[in-house]
Amino acid sequence: MPTDLEVVFGSSVEGRSLTVTRRGDVDGVRVLVIGCIHGNEADGIAIVEHLMRMDSPDGVDLWLVPTINPDGTAADIRHNASGVDLNRNFPVNWAPLAEPGDWQYGGPAAASEPETAATVALGELVEPSLVLWYHQDLFRISPSRGLSGEVRARYAELTGLPLIEVTGGTYTGTASQWSRTVTADGGFGFTVELGPSLTDAEAERHAEAVVTVAAELLSG
Ligand SMILES: [Zn+2]
Repeated sequence: MPTDLEVVFGSSVEGRSLTVTRRGDVDGVRVLVIGCIHGNEADGIAIVEHLMRMDSPDGVDLWLVPTINPDGTAADIRHNASGVDLNRNFPVNWAPLAEPGDWQYGGPAAASEPETAATVALGELVEPSLVLWYHQDLFRISPSRGLSGEVRARYAELTGLPLIEVTGGTYTGTASQWSRTVTADGGFGFTVELGPSLTDAEAERHAEAVVTVAAELLSG
């Protein structure tokens, strides 16, 4: 796949394009960045936009997706246009969860939604070592162990987010769990919970943190 070219990799329920742009060093550590999955938590899109225009990084192969839920953002809702919580619809540890209308409705089947299926196919193509998912507005990153824990801690340090567990949901079929299956060599993903708003300077700081953690902790 060429760099610096926006490519459509799928479409939403309402026919909006899902796009990815590859940037950086094609031999570098592969990082997939998803700016938005819950439509009304869209400030991460600004982080992806910074990653698209900053100096092309050495040693990092960025795959940049502004949003996998453009319908949700257009309607200012969490779900996709079918009322499914995409972050409960991924095909790893998926289980029926709740009913249509519920905030965590997981959909009728694993990867039933076109946005989820397209993202799974993209992940299988890219095989990223790291997948970043942006949400709002709990202002935290959940801690973890091992290399994932180190990367989270460094990202938190660089961006000023506290390391605090995210709790309160039922976590079947989440994007982060699926992210752990996209590489054979121990890739992983995690959620960054931004605050209720994000300044342009903060978005830039996050974009730089993405490149820094990949270059420092995941390359070579
Ligand atoms: Zn969310």
